[in-house]
Amino acid sequence: MAFPSDSIVALSTPPGRSGIGVIRVSGPASLGILRKLAGDDSFEPQPNVLTLRTLLDPDSGETLDQALVCFFQAPHSFTGEDVVEFHCHGSPVLLRMIIDIALSLDARLADPGEFSLRAVTNGRMHLTEAEAIRDLIDAQTDAAARQATRQLKGEISHRLQPAKDDLLKIIVRLESSLEFVEDDLPQVEQEEIQRLLRELIADLSSLAETFARGRLLHDGLKVAFVGRPNVGKSSLFNMLLGHGRAIVTAVPGTTRDTIAEPIGLDGVPIALIDTAGIRHTVDEIELIGVDRTRRAAADADLLIVVVDGSEPLTEEDQVVLQDVEDKPHILAINKSDLITYSASANFPGSDQNRVEALSVSAVTEAGLAELRAAILKPFANGSGANEGLLITNARHHDLLVRCVAAIESSQKLVSERASEELILVGLHNALRYLGEITGETTADEILGRIFATFCIGK
Ligand code: GDP
Repeated sequence: MAFPSDSIVALSTPPGRSGIGVIRVSGPASLGILRKLAGDDSFEPQPNVLTLRTLLDPDSGETLDQALVCFFQAPHSFTGEDVVEFHCHGSPVLLRMIIDIALSLDARLADPGEFSLRAVTNGRMHLTEAEAIRDLIDAQTDAAARQATRQLKGEISHRLQPAKDDLLKIIVRLESSLEFVEDDLPQVEQEEIQRLLRELIADLSSLAETFARGRLLHDGLKVAFVGRPNVGKSSLFNMLLGHGRAIVTAVPGTTRDTIAEPIGLDGVPIALIDTAGIRHTVDEIELIGVDRTRRAAADADLLIVVVDGSEPLTEEDQVVLQDVEDKPHILAINKSDLITYSASANFPGSDQNRVEALSVSAVTEAGLAELRAAILKPFANGSGANEGLLITNARHHDLLVRCVAAIESSQKLVSERASEELILVGLHNALRYLGEITGETTADEILGRIFATFCIGK
């Protein structure tokens, strides 16, 4: 990618009023912009040191703010270019004025993720590390933040380096044997290559498999409560949340809209959705609620079907149980605190997608721990405590899977005693896929697409 020679500016803190707001400028015009705003064309800031300066409007000479400014000289900066940071008071109006001045002085507004893109193209960090910064900022649970921090420290690149070295070693061996066309690869050599390829496949596959849990930490799950009105959906929703968010009343049809609240279970971010419930109604508003319930249910990864265990199943319950047959669901048989409770009823529906049937009570909180455990059960793969490096990014997972497939195809060719040229095709592809993960061999267009998912100022 060509070295960008223009300068970019953006607010690096969230928009809105705040204690301080940080504006970042990167590129060759950075120092000039700092000098203009400091009102001193010969200002020589000491690199990497915060200095208190009065910022002035270069046109009117009017004082704008007292701010801490810092100059990072290329290549010792986040982007590898000259960078200036202005730590101003967090007034949106003031910050806008300063950005406008920078824009009038040879800078343009940064595209989303452009600071990070420059850091990668200038070799200041690997692509996986830049992606980790985005994931750290977006992390919704402690576990997701911890994984992002590990990746930020370059763990993925370190983890992949031995595989890259091994692949290169095999490629070199095969290529050198190509020079002696009349000789086949000696048997011992063939076996050694087979062994190395087997080890590579096992190693990279086990890394790829961590994506099952990594994806959960990254993307989270949508879990929706469904059931006819008054069975206790909102009460159970509140029980899982640990506070009363949804309105609970004895009047059926009280929850007319869907409510979503985030919770964390074993480090997995979960969007918990309470729905209006499914029932026959002629009330227009309630009908909209029922329609939204069906849509929320269709969109959820897992459903919690609630029935009232203190009463016989109704026709409405039967409809709900049929509705969820095709989807992973937990059956929560609620109100276990009541004397008329009986969980032994034979509940209709297919067992195939039923994760578990549980006795619960939203009043006594009996069954709460079991319900929490059951939510993660269909997705569980490893535990939250002391887990190793996980692949959390779909792009990395896809490239790992392709890499493994490429090595497998080469391994098959080795066993068929195919020519070195053919074997090498898969191995070169495998090496390229690994390089794409860390950004060494990633095409400009793909880089552009990845960074477009970052926010402005990053
Ligand atoms: P929803 O319409 O399915 O959301 O049901 P709600 O959560 O609004 O509860 C309906 C009624 O059942 C309310 O009066 C709740 O207090 C009551 N309720 C909910 N869960 C339980 C429970 O476990 N035990 C008892 N005894 N009552 C419950």
